[in-house]
Amino acid sequence: MLDLFLTKNPKHQAILIVTASLILLTITVLLGYAFFLKGPTKHDAKKDKNFVTVPALVGKGMYVAKKKVESAGLKFEVDQWVNSKVYPIKHVISQKPLPNIKVKKGSRVIVNVSGGKDYYSENAIRQQSAVNNENLKPLPEPPIQPRLALIGRVVVIDPGHQRKTDLTKEPIGPGSKIMKVKNPGGTLGTVSKVPEYELTLSIAKKIRERLQMRGVKVVMTRESNDVDIGNIDRARIANNAKAELFVRIHANGDSNAEKSGISTLYPALNEWTAPIYDKSLKAAKIIQKSLIETTKQNDLGIVARNNMTGFNWSKVPVVLIETGFMTNPKEDVLLNSPNYQDHLAKAISDGIIKFLQTYPPRDRIFNSQ
Ligand SMILES: [Zn+2]
Repeated sequence: MLDLFLTKNPKHQAILIVTASLILLTITVLLGYAFFLKGPTKHDAKKDKNFVTVPALVGKGMYVAKKKVESAGLKFEVDQWVNSKVYPIKHVISQKPLPNIKVKKGSRVIVNVSGGKDYYSENAIRQQSAVNNENLKPLPEPPIQPRLALIGRVVVIDPGHQRKTDLTKEPIGPGSKIMKVKNPGGTLGTVSKVPEYELTLSIAKKIRERLQMRGVKVVMTRESNDVDIGNIDRARIANNAKAELFVRIHANGDSNAEKSGISTLYPALNEWTAPIYDKSLKAAKIIQKSLIETTKQNDLGIVARNNMTGFNWSKVPVVLIETGFMTNPKEDVLLNSPNYQDHLAKAISDGIIKFLQTYPPRDRIFNSQ
């Protein structure tokens, strides 16, 4: 080899040049590869902080699945309960996104959950009652078990207000000449400086989560603060969803900073509310009781209201919960604590469930025909 470097033989020189070139090329490739490899690795590590792997959920119990999703830094959401012969009740049957995919932290993982083999969709029940109405031979009774009575039942949650105030007016009831502002701004936390629309949305989301875990289908009038929906619009969302209960979440404000406590409003009996009066009153009583038992806050009772646009346009039972006074320093701090919001959400969703279980599931379907 040494001879080769020292040689003056042209043949040997040629070999030398080729060998040297090959070595140089190899070094270049290796260095380049090492550099290239190092670059993206650093980049990936940086990306990894914001991206997490979606866990595999199919076949798992929904509570286990929820824990897995949340400990991965993701949000768990139940979309639908469906009939399943394969998966036992309350087990995940499908998920989106699929497992092992990298997604941004905080993303939603949406699952469908088994209602068991005896769970019939609302459509099946609707079809059957249609057949009954036409005096045809009835189909066999769909076996709805009492413990499944919550699955697929519809509740609309309305987080009060929105970022944008809208001072245009709308009639307080169908055909009414009395007009009220579409979107008054709502109140503001005296200590927290949190606007009412933010508070109501975070409480509403917690209620939705609890109801969904029990199989209730939840429709939200809004999921963002940047919407423009008046009180007629909100009532229409509940009407179109054929909600069994329309639950409006608000917080109170008063010039007296001492004033505190929880109240539940319901529609007074008037020209518009007769068909929904009884059930609304019932819901108000149940929910207010549940709220006071859970939170131990000052009980301001249930209050009948005649002039609320969102009540008078509603064709479904409706209540409005004043969760507390944001103008009271103590209550404002309380209302903005996530733990207290959990208590409120539990009290309200327990109340809603108790109300739903007071009436058989098909009641609503027959009434709405
Ligand atoms: Zn309000």
